[in-house]
Amino acid sequence: MAYYHIASLSKLVEQFERLPGIGYKSAQRLAYYILGLSDEEVKQFADSILEAHEKIHMCKICCNLTDEELCSICRNPDRDHATICVVENPRDVVAMERTRDYNGTYHVLHGAISPLNGVGPDQLRIKELLNRIKDNTVKEVIMATNPTAEGEATAMYVSRLLKPLGVKVTRLAYGIPVGGDLEYADEVTLARALEGRSEL
Ligand SMILES: [Zn+2]
Repeated sequence: MAYYHIASLSKLVEQFERLPGIGYKSAQRLAYYILGLSDEEVKQFADSILEAHEKIHMCKICCNLTDEELCSICRNPDRDHATICVVENPRDVVAMERTRDYNGTYHVLHGAISPLNGVGPDQLRIKELLNRIKDNTVKEVIMATNPTAEGEATAMYVSRLLKPLGVKVTRLAYGIPVGGDLEYADEVTLARALEGRSEL
């Protein structure tokens, strides 16, 4: 234990250290940066955290994040509501939107089936997806889960549930490196993967 110790500073460093990708050194640097801000700046920073956390929730239809009842994509009448692209997390929606090639809607599962990490189908937003298919307006579901073991297992599991409902189920073509994350694929690769999708 260091002889020089400020309890409230250590607490702040610990909070930063809990963030993804932040080690002790970075956490310490961020904490000292916060200390250097004015009262007003710190208040704005803290308020944005509270406001985002309080206002943002899942869209009632697609489970993507939004601060309104329905997200801007579900609300948009110009989007093709007969096509649903199923992704693992909200960051994947951002990646797909960057391609500008896709005009359908999304469904965010909020994870992938992973027995090793104790994630089963019940923890994902699969029921919500099945409910969307029931009114027969959806023609195609594109499984755009990551090309990892978990993403593949999830795509297979969901497609088995969807097929009896009479909907066309497709999978993104490879081009996305196996084991890679959708959100890190560049726009061209992702657009090609979308174009070359095949039926499951
Ligand atoms: Zn939505």
